[in-house]
Amino acid sequence: MESQKKFPQQFSFEFFPPKSPEGTDKLRGVLQQLGALQPKYFSVTFGAGGSTQQGTFDTVQAIQQAGFKAAPHLSCIGSTRENIRTILAEYQQAGIARIVTLRGDMPSGMQEAGEFRHANELVEFIRAETGDHFHIEVAAYPEFHPQAPSAQTDLRNFKRKVEAGASSAITQYFFNPDAYFHFVEDCEELGIDLPIVPGIMPITNYTQLARFSDMCGAEIPRWIRKRLEGYGDDRDAIRSFGEDVVSELCHALLEAGAPGLHFYTMNQAKPTLAIWKRLGL
Ligand code: FAD
Repeated sequence: MESQKKFPQQFSFEFFPPKSPEGTDKLRGVLQQLGALQPKYFSVTFGAGGSTQQGTFDTVQAIQQAGFKAAPHLSCIGSTRENIRTILAEYQQAGIARIVTLRGDMPSGMQEAGEFRHANELVEFIRAETGDHFHIEVAAYPEFHPQAPSAQTDLRNFKRKVEAGASSAITQYFFNPDAYFHFVEDCEELGIDLPIVPGIMPITNYTQLARFSDMCGAEIPRWIRKRLEGYGDDRDAIRSFGEDVVSELCHALLEAGAPGLHFYTMNQAKPTLAIWKRLGL
């Protein structure tokens, strides 16, 4: 973990583009509540195959208009160089300085992979087109990407993104801090030298979390799964236990020298605020 301690700690919050006018109204309030914590930036996800392109842009603009820094996610699967070039120009014009750069996943029904195969190609393209304009965040997987043939291959592929010009990384969420510590140590051995910020998923809804985790390859340890299952529909019990578990995880990560935290807020303020308060940040 030594290499991570030299980076200043930074805190960020992730949103997805709201799908309804009510969702947009609600997010305005969430933005103010979380904005009071003075995060480094708010990031906004980008739907597979560009399905939320306008929504991502609109949300990013709303964040900036409210006086905060915004970082759009940009995924390249199913896209063309021309399309990405247009989006980059729009973001540059809008004063965006940070992009979360991803491959994305092929939406069901979509056949064409497009002109980019992997995120390292998108990082390389952004650097070639825009030089040092953007701070480029990439995704990291302490429990390894579900499609990776081996942990070692996934690490080497992570290194390709770094060598292509990534500035820092945000991890997939995890509940076992050792997965993160080992990942960071492996990165150190490979000479990877950039901040690797843990992605944090507050626990509020077991069914949703279990579905998500199966899809993205994040492990819910058995003891956590069993307890959450046992709470059934008791939302207060799930919330309170989730708050304990995730606050302890965050505390362990920061104590060990993690360079900040990135919260997957799911467009809700309360769960993140509760953890924040517990951490005394
Ligand atoms: P890559 O880095 O390209 O890796 C994908 C797989 O390909 C891995 O198995 C890797 O080992 C392998 N690989 C990588 N490079 C090479 C190469 N050069 N040659 C051979 N194999 C290679 N998804 C969205 O749709 N929208 C979002 O907004 C979004 N935000 C995210 C934010 C974070 C912080 C994270 C962690 C994930 C996010 N995702 C998002 C999910 C992400 O798109 C998926 O996990 C996707 O499957 C992989 O994207 P990636 O950028 O990590 O891909």
